[in-house]
Amino acid sequence: MSGQSNEADENAVGAAGFGLRKIIHVDMDAFYASVEQRDDPSLRGKPVAVGGSSERGVVAAASYESRVFGVRSAMPSVRAARLCPGLIFRKPRFDVYRAVSQQIRAIFETFTPHVEPLSLDEAYLDVTDDLRGIGSATRIAQIIRAEIRAQTGLTASAGVSYNKFIAKLASDENKPDGLCVIRPGEGVAYVASLPIRRFHGVGPRSAEKMARLGIETGADLATKDIAFLRANFGSFADYLYRAARGVDLRAVRADRPRKSLGGERTFDRDISSGSALREALDNIVDIVWERIDKAGSRGRTVTLKLKHIDFTILTRARSMPHAVADKREFAQLGHALLDALLPLPQPIRLMGLTLSALEGEEDEIEEQGGQLSLL
Ligand SMILES: [Mg+2]
Repeated sequence: MSGQSNEADENAVGAAGFGLRKIIHVDMDAFYASVEQRDDPSLRGKPVAVGGSSERGVVAAASYESRVFGVRSAMPSVRAARLCPGLIFRKPRFDVYRAVSQQIRAIFETFTPHVEPLSLDEAYLDVTDDLRGIGSATRIAQIIRAEIRAQTGLTASAGVSYNKFIAKLASDENKPDGLCVIRPGEGVAYVASLPIRRFHGVGPRSAEKMARLGIETGADLATKDIAFLRANFGSFADYLYRAARGVDLRAVRADRPRKSLGGERTFDRDISSGSALREALDNIVDIVWERIDKAGSRGRTVTLKLKHIDFTILTRARSMPHAVADKREFAQLGHALLDALLPLPQPIRLMGLTLSALEGEEDEIEEQGGQLSLL
């Protein structure tokens, strides 16, 4: 890995084929928190968490000052406040984040039409054939970062590589305000050195399972053959097999329709009472709606999923003629589906809620933190 590009290397690669592209992954630094610090100077240099501070609130974004204390996004706000006593909470302002996201997107589109947003604050760009004829992906990443800073007053980090998988890993290397380039000849060694939990798509649960199978790093993963991976990871195997070899065949896809966005939770204790079920649903609504907002997506079908203690699964869905307008409506629909099923014949161990028929974007392999995984 290196901070500076060698354009001759890059150009040699561009024509080579083998699925090699020039990919940039751009990721805004502590996006929501940085926007809040930009717009309110009194927050600058201070630990800031964007998210609800109530008992059931969750941190959506944490400023770098708060990360020193261990505050992270997706962490319960109560825990964050305990870790960082001076932590300042701010309610998210998604309309502002969306507007900034559009500004950034407009910058990207002056370089390539192949822009695939993952959320409001990150995107893949395929600049193999860039519109301005610059030729060097590293140079383009430098210009993009400078333009983002000039136009929005915010910093972005970028990873430059020959596929999406490695570009995304690279953007995280020199955060904040960093740039990292992984050239084709460096990809295999780079991937081998990584802890497995850094692989995009490997959430905490997959990482645990891998640890039990003796897979801690990319190098460990590369020793496993495809049959072993299929037996243990099903449809995820092919992606893992290639990723361990620094290969990723996924194309950057602009305006990909998203199938669904949701989350589910497995409970520590099986639950059956109406009040416990409703409270669990409220929790899931909070977190899932935040993701929906973050992705800037909308949908019109709400699906409730319950897994009973005997592992039978029950799903109920309701479709609206219009996109679900807000969190309140999303919650109402979820509760209506739940209420219609009460009382339950037996306790449940898992509950999930999904919004589907979305317009927007998603990454098909995404799996997210804690017990709550993206469906
Ligand atoms: Mg970010």
